[in-house]
Amino acid sequence: FIVLGIESSCDDTGAAVVRSDGVILGEALASQSHIHEEWGGVVPGLAKTAHEEALDRVIQTALDEAGTTLHDVDAIGVTVGPGLEICLRVGAQRACELAQEYNKPFVGIHHLEAHIMMARLENKELEWPFLSLLVSGGHCQILSCHGVGNYSILGGTLDDSLGECFDKTARLLGLPVGGGGGPAVEALAKEGDPTAIPLTIPLLKRKDCDFSYAGLKTNVRRAAEQLAMERGVESALELSRQDKANIAASFQNIAIVHLEQRLDRAMTLVEKQDKAIRTLALVGGVAANQELRSRLNVLCEALGWTMVVPPPRLCTDQGAMAAWAAIERLKLGSSDDPSNQEVYARYPFSMA
Ligand code: ATP
Ligand code: FE
Repeated sequence: FIVLGIESSCDDTGAAVVRSDGVILGEALASQSHIHEEWGGVVPGLAKTAHEEALDRVIQTALDEAGTTLHDVDAIGVTVGPGLEICLRVGAQRACELAQEYNKPFVGIHHLEAHIMMARLENKELEWPFLSLLVSGGHCQILSCHGVGNYSILGGTLDDSLGECFDKTARLLGLPVGGGGGPAVEALAKEGDPTAIPLTIPLLKRKDCDFSYAGLKTNVRRAAEQLAMERGVESALELSRQDKANIAASFQNIAIVHLEQRLDRAMTLVEKQDKAIRTLALVGGVAANQELRSRLNVLCEALGWTMVVPPPRLCTDQGAMAAWAAIERLKLGSSDDPSNQEVYARYPFSMA
């Protein structure tokens, strides 16, 4: 069977048609990066309007590319939370209308579960249970994943997410931030020395699996300001390309060291508790980062684990994640009522 998926939880309007065996038949994504670039971040009101303007065209493009129509899709899935409420509502309302008009089964999708599910789209052999590291724009969590809708959180961030920290670092260095600053920081870091700027590894004394990125964010800003002073320039924005690259590389390195340390602990704990879990799924927008992918792969190999990570373009938000998560639910005989679907800005896993 084939499913139309719709995603509008943040600043990307995505739609895709995915077949039940995981083949993406058609997809379209309207990025709002040019709109939010100007403001240095996502402006919810502008995002909502942009979703409204793009949605029908994006849906049509995905259907056309798949060579199908709304009459012929077998079900519709849409992200209903967590995310920006007014943005979620644009996609959810349209999806509910379409499901009722065309009389199709309907599934309301948990956005974070959909990020996790992309690991199972990427690797069909990935069986439950497995461990996930979810690193995205709004979240940073280690979860043990036991089945559709069945997750337990081993650790989470005490303050900021890693994606947010990448975005702030991009802004500090005057790099493009529309659509997320991560790719620009990653690209510049390739030219830098990761040991050039001394930064503190977060939560060294806390022996649990939680994260903290607020301190590192401040740490990076102070170090950049200090360097600007030494160089006799007004602000970090005026540093040379090499200095900026050194900051980017040093930040990225310590950010990853923190992930490695917390994951190492979580994996060791899990090994004692649950012999069945020996696979790590790396998911969420930050999982697109190549340095992160290769470093965590090394960590997994050293511990005798397997790592699964979706291709970069399927790590960040897009429509296929909503379609595939719907397929996973539909295969279990589970769906929702489109005449009575809420959206949730906050959406704990236990509610999904
Ligand atoms: P959430 O999924 O938590 O609701 P979101 O949907 O806004 O948040 P995602 O689309 O999953 O976030 O991820 C976007 C984040 O990923 C941004 O913070 C962006 O900077 C980051 N990101 C994207 N590509 C990279 C990269 N190559 N390196 C580092 N960070 C990246
Ligand atoms: Fe996301």
